[in-house]
Parts: sequence; structure tokens; C-alpha cells
Amino acid sequence: MFDNLSEKLDKALHILKGHGKITEVNVADTLKEVRRALLDADVNFKIAKDFTTKVKEKAIGENVLTTLQPGQLMVKLVKDELTELMGGDVSGINLSGNPTIILMSGLQGSGKTTFSGKLANYLKTKKNKKPLLVACDIYRPAAINQLHVVGEQIGVEVYSEEGNKNAVEIAQNAIKHAKANGFNVVIVDTAGRLAIDEEMMNEIANVHKAIEPNETLFVVDSMTGQDAVNTAKAFNDRLDFDGVILTKLDGDTRGGAAISIKSVVNKPIKFIGTGEKMEAIDVFYPSRMADRILGMGDVVSLVERAQEQYDEEEARKLQKKIAKNEFGFDDFLAQIQQVKKMGNMKDLVGMIPGAGKALKDVEIEDDAFKHIEAIIYSMTPGERSKPATIDVKRKNRIAKGSGTSIQQVNQLLKQFEQMSKMMKMMQGGAGKNLMRMMGG
Ligand code: GDP
Repeated sequence: MFDNLSEKLDKALHILKGHGKITEVNVADTLKEVRRALLDADVNFKIAKDFTTKVKEKAIGENVLTTLQPGQLMVKLVKDELTELMGGDVSGINLSGNPTIILMSGLQGSGKTTFSGKLANYLKTKKNKKPLLVACDIYRPAAINQLHVVGEQIGVEVYSEEGNKNAVEIAQNAIKHAKANGFNVVIVDTAGRLAIDEEMMNEIANVHKAIEPNETLFVVDSMTGQDAVNTAKAFNDRLDFDGVILTKLDGDTRGGAAISIKSVVNKPIKFIGTGEKMEAIDVFYPSRMADRILGMGDVVSLVERAQEQYDEEEARKLQKKIAKNEFGFDDFLAQIQQVKKMGNMKDLVGMIPGAGKALKDVEIEDDAFKHIEAIIYSMTPGERSKPATIDVKRKNRIAKGSGTSIQQVNQLLKQFEQMSKMMKMMQGGAGKNLMRMMGG
């Protein structure tokens, strides 16, 4: 996420971080580089200029040059300003209606339908809601089908009316249906066009007026940079929406949209989409995003994601197995599945402070566990629970079966053995000592 911008900002701030003596000249140089980095990330010229002016004013106000660690203070000022620019505090979603009505707007291809599904899934699993999805794209039967597929995937009902060409009517009927059937959130997915056109704007404006949503959300593809900002402006002028959803932040996006959109439309970014899967949705935290952009990682989100996957019951069972020396490859496989649920590897690595930069040239496979899983799947159940019984002949067979080499099989077995020993140690007195040594 925002690799290029992070790298450039890091270089810009490096001048200060490394300098023994900081002068007005190198503060100015740094800010010039910061501005260039923002422009390269497709941040609007005026916003980039205002940004550096503000940081400069603060730097003068706080007497950066006379502080003990001027470099660090400058990084902090840049971070604070970035956070402010992206909205300051986190903005939640308004769920006060009964039912809560959420209207989705945006261009075709922005990720509206996908996000409608993600939001329904999020509200169902994290907020204990009973959502209803509504297909209001009256022009493209394929879009209606797509929403049905999504709904099925997440176990959420989808309301649609075949043949009805009146979006306002469908939305109103859906709300009646929701009230009569105990749904407490209604998410209305509307038709988008490839570009802004009057007919589409009128239609969504009519739906908006008729159903009076509690939340009108504007979905935009972050890969479209400045265009995203312009589209946001056009939609906001008509709908006065409540929040922005930035999708496709998992791709090679430069960051301009994330940084500029708030100050152009003065509406907060509420959620981000970070992948095609239904779980790839995150609440947008400006300060965490600023940390990530500045290569400081995002440990809080990482821990939260780990906690979401943490199952106390499972953990207890696992502990017992480790204590009894029964931890086998099947348990290992289950652990891998849990880690995979946390998100794609590249995304996770980006949350570790400094790791993004350190590993920037390392190709991180989307499915980093592919080989490991293949090897384990090629083992018999007996071998999985007692890896010590795997001899050379069996190793060869496993390598062949998994399409890997005997070296890879050996490596995994060795790693597994070391890991098992380590886990055993952590359980006993040695583990406690180790924890104490580490300050735990
Ligand atoms: P709509 O026309 O606005 O409803 O857009 P869709 O929901 O059909 O999405 C368009 C394409 O973008 C689909 O191929 C989605 O799988 C993909 N997509 C949506 N959100 C994301 C995201 O956050 N990351 C990635 N990588 N792809 C996404």
C-alpha cells in the first residue's frame, strides 16, 4: 500500500533524521521533498502546498531547530498533519435508524456491489445486525445476479424485483419487506455508470430523496487518483453524502485519493476495501494510515486482526496438545488457516514497523503457505501426527506428491521440529524465564 509514497517520504525525512545539525535550509529542503513526494502520489497541487506550509509553520512555532531531537519532531509534525488531512479521528457508521437505511453510490466498477456485500457481512458478524441487501441496478441483470451471488456467499438475503424498472419503487418495497421481516439494516446497491451522467445522477438523487437514508456512502476506486477526487466532488454536490469508501487499496495505488479526498469534499473516509474477498474490509483510521504511509507500521491493526481470529477454546486445546507432545502437522495446518484469515501476506507485512521498507524488494507471494500446505497434504494422517516416523523413502514420496523437492520437505520437517521444541519450552519453566528475559 502506497509503497512509492512511503519510500519517497522516508528519503525526504532521512535528510533530517541523519543530520547532526539541522538548519533552516535543510528543513526547507526536506519539506520541498515531502511536497514532491505528495505530488508524485497524485495529491492535488494546492493540497500538497498547503500541507508543507502548515508543517513549516508548526515547525517554526515549536522551534524545531532548538529541540533535542529535531528530526523526530519533524517526523511527528508530518505525521500529525497527514492524519489531520485524512480526517483526524475515526468516523463510525450511523446505525441509528430502525431499520438503518444505507444507500451506496459510485461509478460502475468502483467496487460498490462487492463493498455492499462486505459491509453486510461486517454488520452481521461484527455488529450482530440482520442486514438486507437490495439490488437496485435496473439496467444490468448481471449486477443483480452478482449481488445474489455475494448474498449467498455471506448468508444474507438479497431483495430484487425482476422486470421492475423503477429504482425508487424497488428501494421502497425493500424497506417495507425489511420492516415486515425483522431486518434492522437495509443496504441499497444502486446502478453505476462508467462516467458521471445526468440520468444516473437524477436516478440516485430520486432514490435518495424517497428513502431518506441514515447513511449515504460514496464508493470510489483508489487506483483512479485525482479522478477519484473529482468524481467524489460531483457525487457530493448532488447527494451531500455522509462518507467515502475507498476500495482497492491492496493494489498498486499511489495514495493521492486517500490523502486528498477528505479536504476536497469535507466528508470522512469511513471504510477501506483491501481485496476481493468478503473479509477484506477495514474501518479507516487516519492516524494508523499515516503511520503506515510513513513506514511506521500499524501494530494496533495487526494485533486486532490476530485477536479477531483468536479462539480461546482452540488455544486451550492447543496448549494441552503441546504439553503432551501431541502437536502435529494437522494442528500446524489449522494455525496456517488462521493466519491466512488475517489477510494477505503483503498487507500483513506492511503493518510491521520497518518491515515494508526492509522487504520492499522481496517478492512476497500472495499465498506464501502454498508449498507448506502442499507438503502437509501429501502426508498420511499417521505421518502428520508423528513426523518422526518420516524416513527418506517417505520424504521422497511426499516431495513427489506435493510437487516440491526433498530439500523443501526436509526444511519444513526441521522447522517443525524446532518449532515444537520451542513451544514445549515456552510452556515449561524455561518459557517463563525466556518471557522474563524479554521483559514480559
Ligand atoms: P461495481 O460495478 O461498483 O458494483 O463494482 P464491483 O463490486 O463489481 O467491483 C468491480 C471489480 O473490482 C470486481 O472485479 C471486484 O472483485 C473488484 N474489487 C472490488 N473491491 C476491491 C478491493 O478492495 N480490492 C480489489 N483488489 N478488488 C476489488
